Amino acid sequence: MLGNYYIPIYNFLNNIVDQEIVEVLMPNKMSNETIVEGSKFSPDFACIPFKYNMGNYLSELKKGANVLIQAGGGCRYGYYFEVQEQTLKDMGYDFTFISLLGENGLNIKELYHKFKLLNAKLSFSTFCYQGALAIAIIKIMDDFETYMRDKYNLQIDSKSFDTIHKKMLQDILQINTLAKLYQFKDEYIKKLKAVALRKITKDDIKIGIVGELFTSMEPFSSFYLEKELLNYNCIVKRYTTVTYLLLQKRFSRKKVMKKASEYIDYHFGADGAETIAHTLELIEEEYDGIIHIKPFGCSPEINAMPILQKISRQKNIPIMYLTFDEQTTATGVKTRIEAFYDMLKMKKEQEKESREEAYESY
Ligand code: SF4
Repeated sequence: MLGNYYIPIYNFLNNIVDQEIVEVLMPNKMSNETIVEGSKFSPDFACIPFKYNMGNYLSELKKGANVLIQAGGGCRYGYYFEVQEQTLKDMGYDFTFISLLGENGLNIKELYHKFKLLNAKLSFSTFCYQGALAIAIIKIMDDFETYMRDKYNLQIDSKSFDTIHKKMLQDILQINTLAKLYQFKDEYIKKLKAVALRKITKDDIKIGIVGELFTSMEPFSSFYLEKELLNYNCIVKRYTTVTYLLLQKRFSRKKVMKKASEYIDYHFGADGAETIAHTLELIEEEYDGIIHIKPFGCSPEINAMPILQKISRQKNIPIMYLTFDEQTTATGVKTRIEAFYDMLKMKKEQEKESREEAYESY
């Protein structure tokens, strides 16, 4: 379970399994129970994606699932599934665990053979077609959601994007061919373009979110940070999406290292170097503040933090650090967001006043 991505994944699985013998279960939404249950059966020191995953697996196993699928890698996350599989089997659950990544990373042929378990008649071409379709759906979904997030507080009617988004997620479930996808895309481009927007002004408070990928993309795990910021009428930017991880990250590595070269010589795993480069980009784009998010114990992001503190001092940009674990409370996060927003607002007003005073005295 990761944000709304469960929808294209559910869709993909339904399109490739033998529906006469396999039922794809729609995963339960993330809840307090997910993290409470997941944490009970996870090592204390494991980062929070491990614990949420355990909570997800447990809720599906209790519903009767006997095949679980895990995706991921790039940091120690790539080693989690062996521990999770063994723990769940020791608890008495009988199931098959499919990890999308093999020993040498993502290999389409290997993956095809793994998925044949769910449909003996599945052809390689159907598998590739449905895989490409799922990736294309994710890309369009990410593009639309990024557009809506960027422009959310510029809408004249504050409910327009929410209405479109809700219907969009329902319609995605019906897509099983590229022709339907192109029709869907055209239809939603028209809908999004029809939403009346105001112009961004110097008074708008712009906040960028950088940091760890799971907490960036799974809203429950960050206590709906983005939504909270949008409720304060901020302009919010977030980089990490599945499209970025799947299709763009490997090609942007050189650019990232060049951008961050004043501060780092080496990439330090997951999105640590990207956090530095994106922070510098947000400063160039005159964002008012940055929020760095990470699960407790996330080494790539811990490594990025002293550098961010240095950048914050050098460039006079406020950066707030939020760390999430199973002890974090929604109230604590909300209070910190409110304080950060108030501080940015005051800073902006003071800067405006000093500019006006300087102009008058001139
Ligand atoms: S990036 Fe950090 S928090 Fe996320 S899975 Fe890797 S180590 Fe854990």
